[in-house]
Amino acid sequence: MPRPIEALIHPDALAHNLGRARALAPDAKVWAVVKANAYGHGIERAFEGLRGADGFALLDLAEAQRLRDLDWRGPILLLEGVFEPRDLELCSRLGLWHAVHCTEQIDWLAAHKTHVPHRVFLKMNTGMNRLGFRPQAFRAAWARLNALPQVDEISLMTHFSDADADRFGQNGIAHQVAAFHEATHDLPGERSLANSAATLRHCADAGVRADWVRAGIMSYGGVPDFPEHDAAHWDLKPAMTLRSRLIAVQEVQPGESVGYGSSFVAEAPLRIGVVACGYADGYPRHCPTGTPVLVDGVRTRTVGRVSMDMLTVDITHLPAARLGSEVTLWGQGPQGSALSIDEVARAGGTIGYELMCALAQRVPVRVD
Ligand code: PLP
Repeated sequence: MPRPIEALIHPDALAHNLGRARALAPDAKVWAVVKANAYGHGIERAFEGLRGADGFALLDLAEAQRLRDLDWRGPILLLEGVFEPRDLELCSRLGLWHAVHCTEQIDWLAAHKTHVPHRVFLKMNTGMNRLGFRPQAFRAAWARLNALPQVDEISLMTHFSDADADRFGQNGIAHQVAAFHEATHDLPGERSLANSAATLRHCADAGVRADWVRAGIMSYGGVPDFPEHDAAHWDLKPAMTLRSRLIAVQEVQPGESVGYGSSFVAEAPLRIGVVACGYADGYPRHCPTGTPVLVDGVRTRTVGRVSMDMLTVDITHLPAARLGSEVTLWGQGPQGSALSIDEVARAGGTIGYELMCALAQRVPVRVD
């Protein structure tokens, strides 16, 4: 018998979540963001649910190649562009769109000998201060690109630093939206501004949804760093389930501790279930006692420290729970139950993105 842990990927949920992006930004096209191996879901698996997207956005050529190997002939965007001049050749061969965020990338394009013209997304830095040309330098960069015979289509993009916040003006994204549109108002080309947070919160604004939204975390049924609402509030469905089983049950008396460091001490008699899942599977070690978990679809709490291969849960109020009972660490549980990955992430002091991406290699993954 293999160790009873597995991850399930739900293509129906991916397709549903893509539909949510479309509903929120009805006149925009959707880039499904599949960087980082589709946020840990696996590009090939995610493709099963996201093939209805208008394009796929990712980071590296190897991932783009995997999409082409799946026979995806539509748009693929390299969100950070190429990392060195020789990448341009494969970029052309794979027919990729690529971001251009710095003068060096324009120099590389100017020196690239090719008969296949490039399609680029020129990136503006409107306040994130990681990648892109500042608004005052943007037009010069656009003019240089526009003069290159190697480039036949220039689209325009920016990335929000504060779309997670529930505000548009006053320290929200309004200043970024305004800076972007002011600097580009008379330039041709399609525009892309919104990530998931902006798609969920601010897409009523036509200047935010523009021509393309870039749906990352929401495609996977997670929310960005939103403290007040979970994914269900936005009608997003978890696309990844991590589940395991109880491999032992212990009766613990008051005053006895559970796990490494004796960090949890029972105050009353407790039944403790031992789950075959630990930090070496990608479950966050920092999740404290009290982190939610489902046993046979019923919500309970973890107790004690998460160890490498196991964690322990309180099953005192679940008399039917026994060795072999199903444990949902996050995602979809039995009988329609669900546990949001964002809630587990918050308990561990992180975000759902990190948990998805950190799913360990040793966990077998199956498409549901
Ligand atoms: N656009 C760009 C440029 C990004 O770097 C990312 C991810 O970080 C996204 C879109 C998608 O972000 P999210 O997963 O928050 O939707």
